[in-house]
Amino acid sequence: MFSPGSGAEGGTFVLVHVQRRSREGGRRLSLGDGAVAMMEPEAPLRVLELYSGIGGMHYALKESCIAAKVVAAVDINTVANEVYKHNFPYTYLCAKTIEGMTLDEFNKLDFDVILMSPPCQPFTSRVGSQKDVLDPRTKSFLYILDILPRLSKTPKYILLENVKGFETSVARDKLIQTLESCRYTYQAFLLSPTLLGIPNSRLRYFLLAKLQPDTFCFQIYHQILKHFPDHDDTDLKSTDGSSLNQILSTEGNKKEQISSEYCAENGKSQADVNLLYKLETPEHQKQKQIQNNNLSIQMIQDFLEEGLQDPSPYFIPPKSLLRYALILDIVGQTCRRSVCFTKGYGHYVEGTGSVLKTASDVELSVVFQSFDALSEDEKLTQLSKLKLRYFTPREIANLHGFPPEFSFPEKISLRQSYRLLGNSLNIHVVAKLIQLMVK
Ligand code: SAH
Repeated sequence: MFSPGSGAEGGTFVLVHVQRRSREGGRRLSLGDGAVAMMEPEAPLRVLELYSGIGGMHYALKESCIAAKVVAAVDINTVANEVYKHNFPYTYLCAKTIEGMTLDEFNKLDFDVILMSPPCQPFTSRVGSQKDVLDPRTKSFLYILDILPRLSKTPKYILLENVKGFETSVARDKLIQTLESCRYTYQAFLLSPTLLGIPNSRLRYFLLAKLQPDTFCFQIYHQILKHFPDHDDTDLKSTDGSSLNQILSTEGNKKEQISSEYCAENGKSQADVNLLYKLETPEHQKQKQIQNNNLSIQMIQDFLEEGLQDPSPYFIPPKSLLRYALILDIVGQTCRRSVCFTKGYGHYVEGTGSVLKTASDVELSVVFQSFDALSEDEKLTQLSKLKLRYFTPREIANLHGFPPEFSFPEKISLRQSYRLLGNSLNIHVVAKLIQLMVK
């Protein structure tokens, strides 16, 4: 009754009698004469999650609905690993350095896919801090590049996430050389969650690589895509009506200003001239206004914790309020934007992420008008009217696209939670990229 064969669509199949129904959900292929071929469901892809942190890649993989299984997650950070284990208790978590893993250990994992977010600090564009391949934190990444050509089975797919700035690094050049020598085809992206209607800027570099002869139908030679390739789809909303010039930018072009999007982690990108109230340039204000008027982006209120029991740990202490009032990025509940949350959020105030104005009836401009002329006490009185607080870790997780079932173990402190979330990624963006990579 069963006859093994090779499927016309690439999978393996078995012949079965027409009355037989698949209980496993295999696809039916009619062969005439009452016989049908049942396409066996393809074996799930075996995924290696490197620099796994709190499992952003794992959640993105789940969201992508690709048939896949994480065969190992590797990270050296014990706190991140606690969170990972708490949420993925059945995934093999390898708590060691990547460069401490032998070729044999990699081979035994027999993986088809690598998902990885190497440490981004060597590539962030704060002046003088881009040590790139000279930074010891790049060592593990260079080790991966060294291992890749020596694996007994070259993985079919690779997805890398990093900060904007990686695209002009020597590490990126080395990655490309390795991919080309291993016969991969690849496509780079610079994308932010705002493209998916999420009110949070987190401009990140992504690279998708696929083993040849497979190709990407959206591939554009030597260009970085700044939109999802199917950006005409109704579910993908552009933050502006970008022209082709804005959609593409040249890989490796160190001078190019990739985006006007302001991401605090990457330093202040706007000229500090023509100050208005709150130390803002007209350009800053215009950019914020454009974002807030973009109806394709959801409002901040959709991501807030409902009925937050005790907001007191999140209110900004008076001392910080006074000191940093003019540089805080303040958003209201009906705003459609927030700046990139980084690992110092909740602890360092400057450039680590937006804060929330919970008093909806008080205008910012009223509070900051003639602010300089006020005494310290008066300033504090004015500022307290805004009822400014930090976003909670759950709210940042919501903006990042973490599902409701994600949680931190109780022993993880607030500061640790912010730190881990600041290092993580937007799950919806990566899920979409995984789908594009594998389809
Ligand atoms: N994508 C992850 C975060 C990646 S941040 C998430 O969703 O949370 C980079 C991670 O790399 C950090 O968790 C850090 O602990 C880990 N890391 C840095 N150097 C490493 C090394 N040499 N070996 C293993 N893990 C490393």
